[in-house]
Amino acid sequence: MSLTRDAVLDVLKTVKDPIRGNDLVSAGMVRALTVSDGAVRFVLEIDPARAKKMEETRAEAEAKIKSLAGVVSVAIVMTAHTVATPPPDLKGSGHKGGGHGHAPAKATGPEKIPGVARILAIASGKGGVGKSTVAANLATALAAEGRKVGLLDADVYGPSQPRMLGVSGRPASPDGKTILPLRNHGVTLMSLDVLIVDLPPGTGDVQMTLAQKSQVDGAIIVSTPQDIALLDARKGIDMFNRLGTPIIGLIENMSTHICSNCGHEEHIFGHGGVAREAEKLGVPLLAEIPLHLDIRTASDGGAPIVVSKPASTQAQAFRNLAKALIANGQA
Ligand code: ADP
Repeated sequence: MSLTRDAVLDVLKTVKDPIRGNDLVSAGMVRALTVSDGAVRFVLEIDPARAKKMEETRAEAEAKIKSLAGVVSVAIVMTAHTVATPPPDLKGSGHKGGGHGHAPAKATGPEKIPGVARILAIASGKGGVGKSTVAANLATALAAEGRKVGLLDADVYGPSQPRMLGVSGRPASPDGKTILPLRNHGVTLMSLDVLIVDLPPGTGDVQMTLAQKSQVDGAIIVSTPQDIALLDARKGIDMFNRLGTPIIGLIENMSTHICSNCGHEEHIFGHGGVAREAEKLGVPLLAEIPLHLDIRTASDGGAPIVVSKPASTQAQAFRNLAKALIANGQA
């Protein structure tokens, strides 16, 4: 029998929080647990003051999980949440249930980033499906609609946004604390309506950390028609559900091929696969983006199709997506 999430949780219920004495699961310290092909990953949320003591607990949890059958790897990330200092209770009235002593320190959950109204994550099950292309074109299409847009390339294993957006060099940091972002095609990172985050493919640490630290307002999952079954969209959707990130919908990329010579349309990778999966999963299909040479040459040339050929049908597919997201109050 293959390793299950419940089996891992059962083990974690036998590991005690050294300070409070209850187990890690009932203490609510285990976050974003995923189990995939024997790889166990989760976040252990701790009080920063107890980081040293918790290292022993983390090691105990790791050893116990490793002894389970079917475990290939264990990745436990400890995050120290900020403890909110309760304001002094001058009237001595207190909250309900909190009669004496200090109010319990409250863990802060995902937070809004100051200056950013909305964060949209662009995800995919695997690489090469056009996730970064969609992110770049959606960002520039939203900018064309008058939105202040930022684009964060969180695809740390294969960043492609600098190339797609035609920016070179590194962001400067004159004071060593803040970063002056690069800017092109109306996309930047300052005070923003929307921050588009181009995630790495799959369901890994970057996704977890982003959702843990910042309030992500929605996720969009990109797939090609023939990859949808392999991609296991359900895995991505389950992850976002567990992380509490609303799923805005799926995008079928390379949906239909339009010949740049004669305009003939053919379905190289099949067509409608993503639409069928979206219906099965009960999530909206947001767009079907054609496979077109101009989309690739535009991205590779550093000006997404929305910028380089704004009147083309291909650019319109992204513009319509941006308009629909704005109309629905999602961007
Ligand atoms: P991912 O971010 O999913 O790894 P990319 O966005 O880097 O994928 O796309 C992979 C390659 O496919 C790039 O060369 C890109 O220009 C090309 N590409 C993506 N979408 C399309 C499309 N609709 N039509 C033509 N080429 C595309």
